[in-house]
Amino acid sequence: MAVEPGRGILAHQHANGTVRSYVALQKSETWIDALDFSNRPAALVQIAAEFEGWAPSLRTLILECDAEPTVRSIYALPVDHKWQRVPGVTLVGDAAHLMSPFAGEGANLAMYDGAELGKALCENRGDLEAALEKYEDALFPRSPFVARQTARNHVRFFGEHAPCSVVEMFAVH
Ligand SMILES: Cc1cc2nc3c(=O)[nH]c(=O)nc-3n(C[C@H](O)[C@H](O)[C@H](O)COP(=O)(O)OP(=O)(O)OC[C@H]3O[C@@H](n4cnc5c(N)ncnc54)[C@H](O)[C@@H]3O)c2cc1C
Repeated sequence: MAVEPGRGILAHQHANGTVRSYVALQKSETWIDALDFSNRPAALVQIAAEFEGWAPSLRTLILECDAEPTVRSIYALPVDHKWQRVPGVTLVGDAAHLMSPFAGEGANLAMYDGAELGKALCENRGDLEAALEKYEDALFPRSPFVARQTARNHVRFFGEHAPCSVVEMFAVH
């Protein structure tokens, strides 16, 4: 993981030896929409140019990438997002609490939500509204805890104090 304000290169190795790399850039949607992967080498050179002066081994992760690049804009709901009960309907996972991936908890929360919803339905057989109310009563305080953590990490990774703020985070935990 190599980061500085507004940009970073993050990579991890899979069990089969392949390396998956993520490039993070704080850019406008217009800039992102203009990336043209129909000319893949040119697009990779354009992205690597954002890391001028960085270690060649890190830029290689971009320039010699042999997978199809995928652009993923990062969206997040407000940390304390909740909604009024709607009879017969509820939300799980990202639909309920979309957050940036910098705590690595979105999929964990989605699976936990599903398990909790299933449990609430089993414990309130024949009373769907009671089950959904019970599920949401626990969901609303649970999600902001992680959403706040990931929002904090987002600033640590790409804010003005990066990379020192990331080093401090790992030194504490
Ligand atoms: C770069 C990145 C890294 C991440 N890293 C981690 C991590 O390390 N750990 C972690 O726990 N989480 C991580 N996450 C977050 C995690 O991927 C999500 O929180 C999780 O996938 C949410 O699951 P979900 O089922 O709620 O939504 P999704 O996974 O988005 O599933 C929703 C599904 O619904 C489908 N769909 C949408 N609209 C329709 C429609 N109209 N009809 C039918 N189907 C539809 C979509 O195609 C999709 O398959 C990361 C996310 C990103 C972007």
